[in-house]
Amino acid sequence: MGLLSLGTPLPWEEAKKFADHVRFNGITQFMNTWDRVKDRYGDELLWGDEVEYMVVELDHERKSAVLSLCQTDVLAKLTPLTDHIDAATDDSIAAPTFHPEYGRFMLESTPGRPYTGSLRDLLSVEGNMRFRRNLARKNMDRNQIPVTFTSFPRLGVPGRFTKPYYDPADAVSSHSLFLPEQITNPHARFPTLTANIRKRRGSKVAINLPIFVDTRTPRPFVDPTIPWQRNIYPEDPEAKNGAALTDHIYMDAMGFGMGCCCLQLTFQGCSIEESRRLYDAFIPLGPIMLALTAASPLWRGYIADVDCRWNVIAGSVDDRTEEERGLKPLKENKKQIPKSRYDSVDWYLSETWMNRPEYNDNPFPIDEPIYDRLRNHGIDDLLSKHVAHLFIRDPIVIFAELLDQDNNSSTDHFENIQSTNWQTMRFKPPPANSPIGWRVEFRSMEVQMTDFENAAFAVFIVLLSRAILLFNLNTYIPISKVDENMRRAQQRDAVRQCSFYFRKDVFPPPSRQNSGAASPNGSIEGHHSSRGSPSGSGSCTPSGGKPRSMTNCYPLPPLPDEGPPRGAVEDEYEEYTMDQIINGRGAAFPGLLGLVEDYLSTLDLDETEQRKISSYLNLVRRRANGTLKTPATWIREFVRAHPAYKSDSVVSEEINYDLMVAVDEIERGVRRAPDLLPEDYTGGQQDQGTL
Ligand code: ADP
Ligand code: MG
Ligand code: MG
Ligand code: MG
Ligand code: MG
Ligand code: MG
Repeated sequence: MGLLSLGTPLPWEEAKKFADHVRFNGITQFMNTWDRVKDRYGDELLWGDEVEYMVVELDHERKSAVLSLCQTDVLAKLTPLTDHIDAATDDSIAAPTFHPEYGRFMLESTPGRPYTGSLRDLLSVEGNMRFRRNLARKNMDRNQIPVTFTSFPRLGVPGRFTKPYYDPADAVSSHSLFLPEQITNPHARFPTLTANIRKRRGSKVAINLPIFVDTRTPRPFVDPTIPWQRNIYPEDPEAKNGAALTDHIYMDAMGFGMGCCCLQLTFQGCSIEESRRLYDAFIPLGPIMLALTAASPLWRGYIADVDCRWNVIAGSVDDRTEEERGLKPLKENKKQIPKSRYDSVDWYLSETWMNRPEYNDNPFPIDEPIYDRLRNHGIDDLLSKHVAHLFIRDPIVIFAELLDQDNNSSTDHFENIQSTNWQTMRFKPPPANSPIGWRVEFRSMEVQMTDFENAAFAVFIVLLSRAILLFNLNTYIPISKVDENMRRAQQRDAVRQCSFYFRKDVFPPPSRQNSGAASPNGSIEGHHSSRGSPSGSGSCTPSGGKPRSMTNCYPLPPLPDEGPPRGAVEDEYEEYTMDQIINGRGAAFPGLLGLVEDYLSTLDLDETEQRKISSYLNLVRRRANGTLKTPATWIREFVRAHPAYKSDSVVSEEINYDLMVAVDEIERGVRRAPDLLPEDYTGGQQDQGTL
């Protein structure tokens, strides 16, 4: 979540009066940022991960695993410790940072400072993640464990699923039938977000996941655990009046989505152009990586027929009114809005010739007056539309103390809207008064149960980002097809069962500028004759040798000789299997891994480094070709194979306990899971991690 401001949050009835004020000043702040940093150039590659944890408390006697609402206590212990590490070590060592998250059972950690492009940093990611996890673990009680698990299987079941126990009857912010008030971080921002989303929408959020129908699942499935007749809050009858669907798992609160954990990566571009280019190139990869990291098949005590969190979070903060959702004619509201404020990206942003206008083919409401202001300020059409689209949303949380800001030194109003547009990718402008440059955040991945896996996906994406820039790769497909991929990515076992739209030719056409330039290595020829040539400058390059560092500042894709392609967009893409996208398809496409390996061969890696990176890429390869299971498949099979499972789609307290114990043991390396992880996985017990 964004920066936590302190102050007095306005209730929705008050906040909505200031929506235009926040938007107007937010745009002024963005234009000031633009004036300040639009020409900024030469920022080095800096990047970092965010890993989210849930604190699970195990009771071995009762065989129960519940969420421990100990966020405040754990953070209170961790903060002085990390301060101490910083003070006690020289400047080269920065202690990791721990942040609170939406759930009072959640933590987020990031490296103490962003990684650079150096190979040393790249290879330190897993150790850094381990160090963070172990530091968190050491500052929890003996029976508490930090688990990187995307959705807690029994969040919202009747009875005990938190410690301490609270009754959902007191859920004054969400009015949920299932989640108590105390599930939410007590900081004023979070209960206010929860309540104001409900109030703006005019009802509780309503999420329905199809239930996984097993041999003894009652049909039709009418959930006996929903308190259908409760009558405490005005929204209580919504469930029986149609919000809760038959044959589905129904959820009614922000906590079901924002209580999920994920893995995010942020990259600094060399310039605004490079960041826009990377943002676009990442967009089609969002659903691919979601499917590949799928890790959340269990919800509110049931097995779902989907594998991913995405639609749950999207639904959990969907503050659109009935008019905006197209259920009623427009009267109070100005326009229909096709998606929740948490959803996939709708708009490619780059001004490179590769970004054909036809690709932006989704319905795309914008705030026209804001668009006009941005255009009049000299900001180009694509970026103006991007911002004017984000700004169709209302600010949900406004602090009275922060209404009046100095628009030259603050970007708080801008960030208010920006940071509550939770999309698959985020384009992050530089904050005011900060050395930070233009960044792109990759946000679709589900968190993996081990730091080995989280590091593997982080390393894969950072290397892929360099391959994209070095080889001038073109990944564009129409954005409506990216959305179709988002839909498919969440389906059960999508990696093996689904195909995905993908661009047929990712290589740039031959260009005047680059013709005759050397290829990065001999292996290129075998794949494609016209692959673009690298032109990235290698920092730390020993004269004549390969660099020991990944770089920024690649030239933008040069125009091809023949001018931009003019063929039909429909001919540019087709359906690929996950195996083909990652591992290649024939001579024309080496797969994303092939591209990563071509990029790697431009670096000066020693044998140990090579081996370590290979172990990460091997995980990605095997997840994609199905020789290793996704976490979602592994979790689903664990439940179905459990002796206490009654083939009725129910995840009982005992099954959940055994699952959490297994996850912890796998992470520490004391239990093998050879269908999930490579044989040589040793786990976090042997390796405590390093900074
Ligand atoms: P948010 O929650 O808003 O996405 P966080 O502060 O939690 O942001 O995480 C941001 C990530 O970006 C961290 O991994 C951090 O190391 C990394 N980071 C910090 N500064 C930069 C930078 N200049 N360029 C790229 N990444 C950065
Ligand atoms: Mg987070
Ligand atoms: Mg964060
Ligand atoms: Mg944050
Ligand atoms: Mg230090
Ligand atoms: Mg983030």
